[in-house]
Amino acid sequence: MKLSFSGCYIRQKLSNMKALVYHGPGKKAWEDKAKPVLLQPTDAIVRITRTTICGTDLHILKGDVATVEPGRTLGHEGVGIVEEAGTAVSGFRKGDHVLISCITSCGRCAYCRKGMYSHCENGGWILGNTIDGTQAGYVRIPYADTSLYPIPSGVDEDALVMLSDIFPTGFECGVLNGQVNPGDTIAIVGAGPIGLASLLTAQFYSPAKIILIDPDPNRLEVATGFGATHVINNSNEDITATINNLTGGTGVDVAIEAVGIPATFEICQQIIAPGGRIANVGVHGKSAPLHLETLWSKNITITTGLVDTITTPLLLKTVQAEKLKPSRLITHRFALADILQAYDTFSNAAATKSLKVLLTNMD
Ligand SMILES: [Zn+2]
Ligand SMILES: [Zn+2]
Repeated sequence: MKLSFSGCYIRQKLSNMKALVYHGPGKKAWEDKAKPVLLQPTDAIVRITRTTICGTDLHILKGDVATVEPGRTLGHEGVGIVEEAGTAVSGFRKGDHVLISCITSCGRCAYCRKGMYSHCENGGWILGNTIDGTQAGYVRIPYADTSLYPIPSGVDEDALVMLSDIFPTGFECGVLNGQVNPGDTIAIVGAGPIGLASLLTAQFYSPAKIILIDPDPNRLEVATGFGATHVINNSNEDITATINNLTGGTGVDVAIEAVGIPATFEICQQIIAPGGRIANVGVHGKSAPLHLETLWSKNITITTGLVDTITTPLLLKTVQAEKLKPSRLITHRFALADILQAYDTFSNAAATKSLKVLLTNMD
């Protein structure tokens, strides 16, 4: 008994790592934490080599996400190397380089069978939410076979961190839900990382005009460099008048809401053309007005949804073929150990001109 106790103790001492831990609204720390262990035969333990910070992490730190309890390691994006795979994991083994999806899917429940992984009865968005996440030396990934993706050799792994969440979200919730077609005029409200990911992936479908709307001149300049045909600074320009000028008074075919506040959802309703699609991507914290008094007769479709990450394999191929260069969103780089500095930079985006910060952990 004594021997096994001291054995456990030594193992525990050897099995610590550093993690970015949430300690309630406004409080976080980069601190020692026990390395995760396999809990189910379908789990894998992944050593994180690269991760990043999401706008959602900032919402959690404000106390906006009630499901996140103090003590939780944050982060739902990253790539890494499999350290250990459970006995039921057939697709991955120690040493494999993997992309971690922000959505965990069991692959077997009714929602997974419909491709709605975000509603997986045993998963969904749990990483850095209801289980410990990726802003750490190691992470436990449940249902590894269906929640990890193998990284083809020779692909820029920095860029792939953008495929954990940002690119599938911008593509699925914005471009695919909005049914962007060749020749369409589309407006993207919000030029943050998600809006810019929508901008880059919308170009797969050759829309005629892509209009970016944002109050930050730096982000609008970035958007122009990324292929926006027109930009509108909503802090000093009349959005409706400019859109009417650009569309001969009809409005846009697709309006993508990539902010998550009532005002931006209202902009989408003001500028949508008859037959148009409003694709909501933003995470809304309060109710937003729906103007049925003007929209009731306009054949509008409004879509909502959390990312299912069902397009991750497709996006991986486009990155491999260099049709998509997600690393363009990386503006700042830090060592994972300097994550507190990275949070400061990311949370002061207007001053630091940051889009995505890349954190690397190369021992
Ligand atoms: Zn995210
Ligand atoms: Zn499932």
